[in-house]
Amino acid sequence: MPDDAIATALEAPAAATSLTRKPEVMVAGPAERAEPTGQPVFSLNDVTVSYGSYRAVRHVTMDIWPQEITALIGPSGCGKSTLLRCLNRMNDLIPGASVAGHIDFTGSDLYGAKVDVMDLRRHIGMVFQRPNPFPKSIYDNVAFAPKMNGARRADLPDIVERSLRRTALWDEVKDKLKQSAFSLSGGQQQRLCIARAIAVEPSVILMDEPCSALDPIATIRIEELMTELKNTYTIVIVTHNMQQAGRVSDRTAFLTAEVDEDGTRYGVLVEYDATGKIFTNPSDRRTDDYVTGRFG
Ligand code: ADP
Repeated sequence: MPDDAIATALEAPAAATSLTRKPEVMVAGPAERAEPTGQPVFSLNDVTVSYGSYRAVRHVTMDIWPQEITALIGPSGCGKSTLLRCLNRMNDLIPGASVAGHIDFTGSDLYGAKVDVMDLRRHIGMVFQRPNPFPKSIYDNVAFAPKMNGARRADLPDIVERSLRRTALWDEVKDKLKQSAFSLSGGQQQRLCIARAIAVEPSVILMDEPCSALDPIATIRIEELMTELKNTYTIVIVTHNMQQAGRVSDRTAFLTAEVDEDGTRYGVLVEYDATGKIFTNPSDRRTDDYVTGRFG
């Protein structure tokens, strides 16, 4: 290699980035993402979520866009799961929980008096931290919700196969559909739970730390699956794993905990932007400290 080529190669990494520090997280997307088009799926306006008199997350305003993966990151206790649960009204199930402010879902008030919450959760599915299949067969896990929603019995095999194919599980389970879901590995169980969620054709999938109980290989498979699924669904994920947020998400919301004059810790949204921007060139010092590991 000629000397000038070597010199260029040696300089290239520095020339390629104007960052003053090395990014800690590999990000899949560009630092600057094109502005979203179309209508937001969710519009949160000054949302405060309380448990009794404790205002756990305060004054959150953000839009969540279709066919994207939006990650909620931040230190433990800053209200990521609380905020996620608002999006399909799971907090309704917690005694004393209340939501102030306004959340629109595809242009309608999510907390409107006429909303049928069961129907809403059909449109907005949820996947939890630990795989939680029903104590039923693999087939029945996926067929259960469509059956409850009135799908014809004759259509169920197709629905089950389609859902299991979409979650890349079909080839692994097609010969043992009648076996208990508990016979599957943890990673397979989590993909089964995702198949169960999409069997009713939701438009949104909420995921609350879906890989925290999984090994690295199973984690990568779920991440690949999420990237595949976002072509069809809007995904919102809570993750404590910044590398994961960097790898899979299009947009990232960073929340942190602040302390009010009474000494009460509460969550706030610090910054919400394209994932590449959050991890390489955030606007707020608190985000920078968090993503570079100086805090949390
Ligand atoms: P994160 O997901 O960021 O770890 P959470 O949403 O779980 O944070 O919690 C935010 C705050 O709300 C914490 O102070 C937590 O203790 C409190 N909290 C969460 N769930 C409940 C609940 N069911 N009842 C009362 N407080 C809760």
